[in-house]
Amino acid sequence: MRPILPGVYAFSGMLVGRAYLIEGPDGLTIIDAGMALAADRILHQLAAAGHAPGEIRRILITHAHFDHIGGLPRLKALTGAEVIASAIERPYVEGRAALPTPAPDQLGLPDRLMLRLGSGTTAPATPVDRTCEDGDTVSEALGGLRAILAPGHTPGHTAYWAPEPGVLFCGDAMMRTPGLRLPFAAFTGDMAAARRAISRLAGLSPAVVCFGHGAPLTRYTAATLRAFARRVGGD
Ligand SMILES: [Zn+2]
Repeated sequence: MRPILPGVYAFSGMLVGRAYLIEGPDGLTIIDAGMALAADRILHQLAAAGHAPGEIRRILITHAHFDHIGGLPRLKALTGAEVIASAIERPYVEGRAALPTPAPDQLGLPDRLMLRLGSGTTAPATPVDRTCEDGDTVSEALGGLRAILAPGHTPGHTAYWAPEPGVLFCGDAMMRTPGLRLPFAAFTGDMAAARRAISRLAGLSPAVVCFGHGAPLTRYTAATLRAFARRVGGD
């Protein structure tokens, strides 16, 4: 695990996508569960840090893509943690509905190929124990962690936001590779909504952003995000 700020860590070795650990007065919170192989790596790193699996109280899901919930069934089974996702994302996490994909004729050739490659990739279904709505406090960690709906990449895509100290877990609302960029078009059902979500998240003026893909942004964060939203964001 790599520390990002006191009480917040990124798990190592996820291969694709990122998962985070947050220590709080109400136990440990994990954000997203990575690919299928990630569950054992997460538990191994927790054990090395002296944490038993049962200390994980909740797993917050940003969205139902396979690189974010692939490890969820095993992580849930081994920790007994409560799985929390937005009410809109729930049917996708539970495998009861297929995520919408963009119309191929709206995509350039590279994105069309990516869409075709990814079209057979489904995430394993996992029951959601509790749903959250926009603005709900989902943990006491970091002074109170709130769900912020940031749809577009997926219909119920959710960011998690701690207003004080200003830490945002943005999932795939945007990516950092290493500059900020829009989520991959091939895996984004509604890019216009995704652009609006970026504007909304930039309006939070975070001090730290932790991405689903890419290293955390910890310096000049609010200004960087505002400039990015001015360039790509929607109304
Ligand atoms: Zn995604």
